[in-house]
Amino acid sequence: MVKEERSAGAVIYRKEDNQVYFLVLWYPAGHWDFPKGNIEPGESDIQTVRREVYEETGITDLEFVFGFREKIEYYYRRGGETVHKEVVFYLAKTRQKEVRLSYEHKGYAWLTFEEAYKRVTYKNSKEVLRKAYNYLKKLGEI
Ligand code: ATP
Repeated sequence: MVKEERSAGAVIYRKEDNQVYFLVLWYPAGHWDFPKGNIEPGESDIQTVRREVYEETGITDLEFVFGFREKIEYYYRRGGETVHKEVVFYLAKTRQKEVRLSYEHKGYAWLTFEEAYKRVTYKNSKEVLRKAYNYLKKLGEI
């Protein structure tokens, strides 16, 4: 039996001195990825993102970039079972630089696109970052 899990998260960026920085978190399992978390019953994706981002980083200032929504999926083993997980990522701008981590993560970093692309562990998340970066370029945001 494969268990189904759905999470929602966001590629969060901020601008400083005309440079764009992306927020990445260090997960206890050892990987680096964007803030995300399980979609609770009755929650919309965006509500999940706001709740999880606040719980995981303390960030409340989020301005979602219209039209960006990217899904990834993967399988992992938990206990004796296989989990099929789908994660939907949004793109959001913040003006908050200060991050207050929860017990759920071991670290964080604000990184340029090139640094973040290297730091993010999994290929599917790297591709989400690349798409987010290209989307911001197309919008003239960077
Ligand atoms: P959430 O932040 O959604 O609550 P979590 O911290 O419970 O998630 P995941 O980040 O999904 O868990 O990690 C669970 C397992 O899946 C770990 O073993 C991790 O290495 C693996 N994993 C995480 N992200 C990916 C990915 N993008 N591709 C493949 N495997 C991944």
